[in-house]
Amino acid sequence: MTGINPMAKSKTVECSNCGSEVPITDSLCRYCNTPIETGHKLTKGEEEKLTAVINAMEEALVAAEGLNWVSGVSFLGISIISVGLFLLYYWLLDSTIVLILLTVFTIAALFLFLGFVISYTDNLTYRKLYRGDVKERINEYLENQGFSRHQFDVLAEKVLKDDAVLRRFLFKN
Ligand SMILES: [Zn+2]
Repeated sequence: MTGINPMAKSKTVECSNCGSEVPITDSLCRYCNTPIETGHKLTKGEEEKLTAVINAMEEALVAAEGLNWVSGVSFLGISIISVGLFLLYYWLLDSTIVLILLTVFTIAALFLFLGFVISYTDNLTYRKLYRGDVKERINEYLENQGFSRHQFDVLAEKVLKDDAVLRRFLFKN
């Protein structure tokens, strides 16, 4: 498999802009932010192999559902708080209109907050998994094959679904 690509096993490359020696696992030059190119254009076969790796990495990220209990617990908590507040309003207020408005407003606000909590914990889970495992696996593959992270990112941007989790980690160092 190696030998096809003349850049294979080369772990660093010279930045085309500032000339610094930079790791091929960086998407952008750490000194001048220029995309890191190896000068090697991917063949059709290499592109297919890299696409398979990209999809596998996306699957590894999506498989992270460990924090799903957070949403479940938050949902339950917020439902209980909503009922409690409704009863409190009911006890405190005489006007039915105010009671309804206040209840609707409270529930809307609480669920907005719930959405925020879920997206925050989601993001945290993915970032942890990416930094702790997925990035390592991508780097290992790139170093073995001699492809640059920027080549990986360009191809990933093209082949990944619009809502793919891996998109959050493209074109960054
Ligand atoms: Zn540079």
